[in-house]
Amino acid sequence: MLLATDLDGTFLGGDQEARMRLYQLISSRPDIDLAFVTGRGLEDVLPLLADPTIPQPDYIICDVGATIVHGDTQQPVGPVQGPIDEVWPGRRLVSDSLAHIEGLQHQEVPQERRCSYFCDEHHIDDEVREIVAKLGCDILFSAGKYFDVLPPGVNKGSTLTRLIEHLGLDPKKDVMVAGDTLNDLSMYEHGFEGVCVGDSEEGLLLATQKLPNVYHAREPGAGGIVEALEHFGFLDREGIEAELEVVAEPGKADLVIVYHRLPYEEFVDKGVRKRRRPRSPNGIIPTLLSFFADGKAGSWVAWAIDDPRYGEFEVHTEVDTRDYPKLVAARVGLSEEDVEVFYKRFSKEAFWPTLHTFWERASFDEEHWPVFLDVNRRFAERAAAEAAEGAVVWIHDYNLWMVPAYLREARPDVTIAFFHHTYFPSADVFNVLPWRRQIVGSLLQCDYIGFHIPRQAENFVDVARGVMPIEIVEKVNCAPRFFTYGCAVGLDEMTAEIEVSGRRIGIGAHPVGLDLKRVERALAREDIQARISELREELGDTRMILSVERLDFTKGILEKLQAYERLLDEHPELHGEITLLTICVPAAKGMTIYEELQIQIEQTVGRINGRFGRFDWAPLRFFFRAVPFERLVAYYAAASVAWVTPLRDGLNLVAKEFVATQGLTGGKGVLVLSEFAGAAAELRGPLLTNPHDPNDMVSTCHLALTLSPEEASQRLSEAYDSVRYYDIARWGDDFMTAVDAVAARNKERERERERGREPEPPVRKDLAS
Ligand code: UDP
Repeated sequence: MLLATDLDGTFLGGDQEARMRLYQLISSRPDIDLAFVTGRGLEDVLPLLADPTIPQPDYIICDVGATIVHGDTQQPVGPVQGPIDEVWPGRRLVSDSLAHIEGLQHQEVPQERRCSYFCDEHHIDDEVREIVAKLGCDILFSAGKYFDVLPPGVNKGSTLTRLIEHLGLDPKKDVMVAGDTLNDLSMYEHGFEGVCVGDSEEGLLLATQKLPNVYHAREPGAGGIVEALEHFGFLDREGIEAELEVVAEPGKADLVIVYHRLPYEEFVDKGVRKRRRPRSPNGIIPTLLSFFADGKAGSWVAWAIDDPRYGEFEVHTEVDTRDYPKLVAARVGLSEEDVEVFYKRFSKEAFWPTLHTFWERASFDEEHWPVFLDVNRRFAERAAAEAAEGAVVWIHDYNLWMVPAYLREARPDVTIAFFHHTYFPSADVFNVLPWRRQIVGSLLQCDYIGFHIPRQAENFVDVARGVMPIEIVEKVNCAPRFFTYGCAVGLDEMTAEIEVSGRRIGIGAHPVGLDLKRVERALAREDIQARISELREELGDTRMILSVERLDFTKGILEKLQAYERLLDEHPELHGEITLLTICVPAAKGMTIYEELQIQIEQTVGRINGRFGRFDWAPLRFFFRAVPFERLVAYYAAASVAWVTPLRDGLNLVAKEFVATQGLTGGKGVLVLSEFAGAAAELRGPLLTNPHDPNDMVSTCHLALTLSPEEASQRLSEAYDSVRYYDIARWGDDFMTAVDAVAARNKERERERERGREPEPPVRKDLAS
């Protein structure tokens, strides 16, 4: 059957529960085709297509019947649209012809093949009628104020009728129409079965009273449609109940972490699955685990390889029964092939470059998107099954972007929080992604979305504004916690709360912090102390500039090497005095996206050492391998300068680790930090540099090498203060406090609504400092 429904007041009307029931029913029934039939212009319908809770229409009839497109492509349904286009004289001619009429006020909303005005009925006099008749057009006046000039013979009912003819449907048996205002009347006049939902406009009820095919429902909006589907026998009660029972049953976890990595490391040894503590915990995993230390019931959803060779796949495994007695890991079984596509290829080749503003390097493979969706859906289903009634589900990072969409549908009761660990670019870049509407639509199902810094949060809000109407409810000043105008990724104020389709979403800036204890533990180790002494001895009077990063084009490694070459060219007095030590972590096997970069780096390293190297001095030492964290700390301690110059970075932990190590050892090391790293918006003290400007790279590195010890020490202590205070534990606590506050506020709003009151107006605050 085809359900052809008006939107505002009808399909989008009624209470939240009734809407969800109708939408789930339609989504679960492939035999129900859906047509939106609306007075909105097409552009005003697009936001609905990005809303994952709303079923996607097969057809969209908009502009009160003047436009008809396919729901999936938004391309015209040619045989129906063509004849309408032929008789439309054009917007310019219509509006020029009516320009001198007093009392007509143009409606400034998207519209095509029609001219929309506001006016009182008496303004539509003989002169107006004559002008419109001469243009060969029709007039539609509705709700006592909307005046539309339409192509002749065009209305919602006529276009719907032509669509039904075109599809070869039986108008008497296969169609049900739904509406609530006089604007919809034409749909009922073609013999289709139809429903006027509860609370319909009086005029519509009167006009349809005598029509035998029309049912006047009791329930308003979506509820009225469900009622009518049953009334006309399209669905029976049992069928409706059965479809709705599919909704997930709540689980036991009050907090569900959804992270791509398990809280322990799994490996296969001689065909047997084994586990160990994560080898390089970056501090985030232990922090997230700490939320379960008080015995909170929790679940940690992550993927694991499902391969029958290693035995039967277990969904639930223990994490650590002693420290986290009520925490279980809930595993999503993926095949090697799933991981390859979802993680190594699609996420890294399509999203990673785009997120870091290198969109020209991105490659979009249409066939990978369904795999990405499928993996995300499985994560969401697992999370839905784990979460207790009203639980908090905390989802991490861009490879799980689509989880909120599926989760919200399955579990409207849970609080969904999301933390974005990478950079988030501006709309100009993000909109390059072919799936931007779906991604934003999914993220807007969250209750709270966190980014590292205000700039990234604001970029997200700007991207979202391009997808659907968003109201800014609350803005906050970024200073003094963050830089305003002092660095490339600074911002003076940021959005802290938005409203979308009646739902409030909190937005926050939470730069990830360090676990200082981990650095302390490394420094307390004898072998690390010995390594520091050894390094100092080896260096002698030579000062070490340290560079640590993964092999990635975002890290600006090549640009840094080129700047170093220039530094040596321009400052021969530094020859023999300094050495650049670079630790570059190779990419995982099979990441072809990095191969060319590696070759270029190797060539540049060879050239620099070849040009400047002396028998007694290596200007550059390049280690192309990962170094265990503890040994890295030894390098941090022995370095005079840390040269951290990503072209773009979500945050950059290396910068903070250098500051922490120097701070803990009473050092005077200088941090030169790219002003395009998230950490630059947060840390006071580093010398900021623009990695896109070779001049600045050279001069700032030179400045770092010649800085007075007093200034170096003062700069370091300022940065260290911040790194020590905003540590990883504070990051986790701040994030969860913000999520809890939003959840409480949203519940309060719900209660206010039930009492028929609208909640408090927006307020301006400063970010906690
Ligand atoms: N790291 C490491 N060994 C290495 C190089 C880096 O353990 O040889 C760690 C480093 O200590 C830091 C992380 O890798 O914690 C890199 O984080 P960052 O935020 O700087 O960059 P990302 O790689 O996440 O983009």
